[in-house]
Amino acid sequence: MSTSIYKRIIELMDNQSKPISVAVVGGGISGSTCAMLLAEQGANVSLIEKGPSLVNGPPICHLHAGGNLYREISEHQCLELLRQSIDTVRLYPQCLNVRPTVVAVPKSDNGDPLALLPRLKLIQSTYQQLVSQDERNSVLGEPADYYRLYKREDIEALANSTQTDLKDIDQWLIPFAKHVDLEQLKFPIVVVQEFGLSVFRMAAMADLAVSTIPSCNVRLNTELLGASESENGWRLELRNGDQTYSQHFDYLVNASGFETGKIDDLVSKPKQRFVEFKAAYVTRWSDCNEQWPEVIFHGERGTPKGMAQLTPYAGGYFQLHGMTEEITLFKGGLVGSSHLSSQPRLPNAYTRKINQGWSNEIQQSRTEKAIHHLACFIPSFVTAQVGGKPLYGAQQIPGNDPSLRAADVHFEGNNYARVEIVKASSAIDAAMKLIKHLGLSDGNAEQIIESYSPNLSGLSANEVVLRAEELALQRGYPVELAQVSGLN
Ligand SMILES: Cc1cc2nc3c(=O)[nH]c(=O)nc-3n(C[C@H](O)[C@H](O)[C@H](O)COP(=O)(O)OP(=O)(O)OC[C@H]3O[C@@H](n4cnc5c(N)ncnc54)[C@H](O)[C@@H]3O)c2cc1C
Repeated sequence: MSTSIYKRIIELMDNQSKPISVAVVGGGISGSTCAMLLAEQGANVSLIEKGPSLVNGPPICHLHAGGNLYREISEHQCLELLRQSIDTVRLYPQCLNVRPTVVAVPKSDNGDPLALLPRLKLIQSTYQQLVSQDERNSVLGEPADYYRLYKREDIEALANSTQTDLKDIDQWLIPFAKHVDLEQLKFPIVVVQEFGLSVFRMAAMADLAVSTIPSCNVRLNTELLGASESENGWRLELRNGDQTYSQHFDYLVNASGFETGKIDDLVSKPKQRFVEFKAAYVTRWSDCNEQWPEVIFHGERGTPKGMAQLTPYAGGYFQLHGMTEEITLFKGGLVGSSHLSSQPRLPNAYTRKINQGWSNEIQQSRTEKAIHHLACFIPSFVTAQVGGKPLYGAQQIPGNDPSLRAADVHFEGNNYARVEIVKASSAIDAAMKLIKHLGLSDGNAEQIIESYSPNLSGLSANEVVLRAEELALQRGYPVELAQVSGLN
């Protein structure tokens, strides 16, 4: 045998035993989840994040286990979100704020409070099936309690009660009964087991778990600048501080959030998407001494009566959304890709907000508008104060439908995938599809979700909260946003 053929055989044998090298660009929840799960299944992963820490992009505050905050999405998307959320709770168990969500339709809105009932019944029966298949899926409580309807007299009967046992769903309605102007609402109202998520505890879990996975190499403050494709992979050009270097990878995962289109442009793989800039506001309501559920008052998106949303946190902190252009939404804040670029172009004022933060005046005035929007339904909430800087960012929505809420991964050729999620809970599905696509799974259908990343699901509540508090402070937010609220 000639020496060159012998050398080639050795090379091939070498390659077969070498784990695939994967560059995951973007250390948000999608990139971090994919990187950890791929590395735990045997890939050699580099997680490349241009920022100083993981999961530091737009906010993540609701689990969306059933998509009940959205009236306009399909049943299919609701069921996808339900299934994905259950996996998220199982893999990221320390991130939940367990409290129900009250969904109310104001008289000023055209909606019928009973219109969602068939969908709720379907979601409930699907949840029941998932729990029957595997008891570990019962993370949203008893399926029979997934939702309840309350008439006006049921609510009024609670107005003089005191909260004593929050395991009793009725008791979550006590502050609602005391403080909400019931005269403005249509009945029944719905209470559904839609929980909160803490973005700081998600960041903490990713940060703590990733450091214990030897085959997952995290490169913070490192930006992807260029990429050239070759027959057997990619040569990526990366920058860390003043240093620029290049490195070969077999596979490239684009998980760069609202900037996914920039990398699509770099690698000449065009794709249509939307990007939307939005914000939620942090307030402190010192007069509050009860545990609130999440509350949403429906309204037509983009109009002055757009949905108002109250999200409780620990220590009297509340996050607010108001789906009007003066509060959560921004004029011209929803933009699509063009035939020239896959990257939608946000107005400069919004990219400046993302990169440099907000002026105090805008922060103050938008938060005050959010407080007044909520106070239309909860008059005593008018005493709430600005509690911190807003939570904000741009959200990517792949494809042509800006109302899409359940999306995961899209494969392009043999060595490129883009992970584009709209909701955090879709990250695990994207990772599982990547594992399958790269042939890293042994196809064992019995493998439970927790076993894909024992380093993640096995973290203790205490270490997660401590790290989450540090991250909240580093990012300039009150530590209460990182603490557990609701049922423990
Ligand atoms: C106001 C608002 C409220 C929201 N509320 C919720 C909610 O309640 N629940 C929910 O599930 N979702 C919510 N979302 C959506 C959620 O925030 C996103 O779906 C999620 O953060 C997307 O995660 P990601 O990992 O895909 O992207 P990101 O978190 O944006 O991460 C992408 C990362 O890529 C990095 N990056 C980009 N380009 C490069 C490069 N060239 N080199 C290196 N790194 C790069 C960025 O620095 C960033 O860290 C909300 C969004 C907004 C705007």
